[in-house]
Amino acid sequence: MRRKVVAGNWKMNKDIHETAELVRSLADRLKDLRDEVDVIVCPSFASLVVAQSLLQNTRIKLGAQNVSSFGDGAYTGEVSAKMLLAAGCSYVIVGHSERRQYFHESDDLINTKALKALESGLIPIICVGETLQEREGGITDRVITTQMKGVLKGLSTDQLNKVIIAYEPVWAIGTGKTATPDQANQVHKLIRKLVAQIYSWAEAEKIIILYGGSVNPQNAHALFHEPDIDGGLIGGASLKADSFLPIVQAAV
Ligand code: PEP
Repeated sequence: MRRKVVAGNWKMNKDIHETAELVRSLADRLKDLRDEVDVIVCPSFASLVVAQSLLQNTRIKLGAQNVSSFGDGAYTGEVSAKMLLAAGCSYVIVGHSERRQYFHESDDLINTKALKALESGLIPIICVGETLQEREGGITDRVITTQMKGVLKGLSTDQLNKVIIAYEPVWAIGTGKTATPDQANQVHKLIRKLVAQIYSWAEAEKIIILYGGSVNPQNAHALFHEPDIDGGLIGGASLKADSFLPIVQAAV
């Protein structure tokens, strides 16, 4: 039985004061949440330490939105996996489509970042997803297959067991257009099949696959109860407790 996971990607929103306010509110309102859902928030680098101090002894875990592909050293502007771990992170998002689009991150680079995260003891939430053009061109399966093979390259079975995959169709991110539960589940099923081909069905049955793309309190329940959808990676709706909480509840 796979655990449900709901993660909030706050992107480049919320300074330390706003982070503290939202974290306090979430921690307070999620006190009595049933144990079967893991809740993660991913604030900006600048707010991680503040968030960490407020999240101690709460149900909520901390994640970052990016990690360097290098270890500590002379890489101005970078943040290493070791630093994220020391700042209290347990998770890190890698390969988000905004990083692929604006910072030209390739599957190779994302793979290196995932390996760096794993070596330091962080759980990478690895994002894959097709663009609108690719979906309309009928090549979604091919795109997802290439991305999955690329991002998992060289990961041992032990490492795979610590990875979370997020299927985030680019056309659904921040657009208000959500994949239907069935559309999303079809791709999740493909992702599981690819994991089975590369590793085994036993591993494929274990891997947590999140859906991301305009999830909101109205559509979350139907998405999260598809057989291959294990929760969500939430952008816009994670920025307010009033919209994030019902999404978390929908995963129970
Ligand atoms: C995201 O950026 O990971 C995301 C899913 O965004 P949104 O929920 O706003 O579509």
